[in-house]
Amino acid sequence: MQPMADLLITGGTVVNETGRFVADVAVKDGVIAFIGHASLAPPAREVIDARGRYVIPGAIDVHVHIREPGMTHKEDWTTGTRAAAAGGVTTVFDMPNTDPPTWDLEALAIKREAAERQAHVNFGLYGLVDERKLESLEPLMDAGVVAFKLFYGNTTGNLPAPNDGAVLEAFEVLAERGHRCTIHAENSPMLFWRENRMKAAGRTDDYAHWCARADIVALESLNRCIVLSEWTGARIHIAHESCARSVPHIKAAKARGVPITVETCPQYVLLAAEDLVGEAARIGRLNPPIREGAQRDALLEALAEGTIDILGTDHAPHAVSEKQDPSIWGNACGFPGVETSMRLMLTLVNGGKLTLEQYVRMAGAAPARAFGLYPRKGVVQPGADADLAIVDLSAAGEIRGAELHSLRSRFTPFEGMRTVGAPVATIVRGRVVMRDGVVADAPGWGRMERPVMPAPSPRNLATTTAAILRPGAMPIS
Ligand SMILES: [Zn+2]
Repeated sequence: MQPMADLLITGGTVVNETGRFVADVAVKDGVIAFIGHASLAPPAREVIDARGRYVIPGAIDVHVHIREPGMTHKEDWTTGTRAAAAGGVTTVFDMPNTDPPTWDLEALAIKREAAERQAHVNFGLYGLVDERKLESLEPLMDAGVVAFKLFYGNTTGNLPAPNDGAVLEAFEVLAERGHRCTIHAENSPMLFWRENRMKAAGRTDDYAHWCARADIVALESLNRCIVLSEWTGARIHIAHESCARSVPHIKAAKARGVPITVETCPQYVLLAAEDLVGEAARIGRLNPPIREGAQRDALLEALAEGTIDILGTDHAPHAVSEKQDPSIWGNACGFPGVETSMRLMLTLVNGGKLTLEQYVRMAGAAPARAFGLYPRKGVVQPGADADLAIVDLSAAGEIRGAELHSLRSRFTPFEGMRTVGAPVATIVRGRVVMRDGVVADAPGWGRMERPVMPAPSPRNLATTTAAILRPGAMPIS
């Protein structure tokens, strides 16, 4: 007699990045305990019939702004992680541009307490790279931050971009430990210059924000990040890649062995700047901006083939009132996305633009690998955490802002978009947190995830900022 499992998922097709097979999946104590033929499956307390459906790793969204502490009029850990559960997302990485910013142990403790009390899904917490707080990098790593975030481009929270000397020193520190640094790669001096020039010329129209942050603003920053990563050996992750023009630069950097991963989001492969007028322009305002439609196919191709490794969302909720200014400059940047991403991408799977295996790689396996969670997460196999989404590829629907679980931010640039394919269950460490669109009450079930990074490979150690503090030092690289 086999021991009783907690949960048994029967008859579904298990999909990993490497392929698919029909199997039963049993869960015990939050971990996948069995995958195999139904005749060999253990008895279980709870059974989910998944015939005709797909069992995939729950999505890991490495780019989410929960907004708590400090901006709970936009989102909090309850609404944000309920939205994640509704969308098949089992782990979210929360960005540090909250109030206070997550830049020291005290701020991390405040955020961790709020998250552990409310989270319905697992979470990782980003630490902030800020030139005023470089001494906090080591303690934050010791305290379990999943990675760091560097805002080269300005965004919500108005955190000043650190100067390049401070970034170099931060990368030297991170390179020694192997932690990854996620980067908002836009050139702030360029975008502020252009924005101020346009404001002085009286531009407030729907396309003004897009013009201020032309492709070069992202392209220049991307290449500076690559140079600093290659020099120090620091692992970097480029957030929300928006430009087709970046793809050859990413390919060249990877070919040289630069430790870089890259993310894009559904809005950059699905929406077009020229379509965003009026209310859509206000809702769709974000950083970097959605580009002209002609760039979408090349980005999607880079994502499908893996040059762009990861699908994030840049889930960035705001109060509805913060998106209603007639001048484009008066509208907050960003919109909710964690809940709608899987449906939108499954629609591309149904349309033949992606395979389900590719989706599983970009949404589960690749983020787990890049941020030190693989193979505990990102793969459906015995011994892995039972973080799963059950997907119905035939479920048809329409994206409706009014239905979002981000209760204070019920708007979306995907309003009215028809989708085919949706998560019908979300399972976090064996517990069903969403079933048929209904999110269970599971506050505090989410667990903080710490990275286990591969051995670091720092470079040019002789010339680091720490090394040149020694009197008389004259290091040669
Ligand atoms: Zn963001």
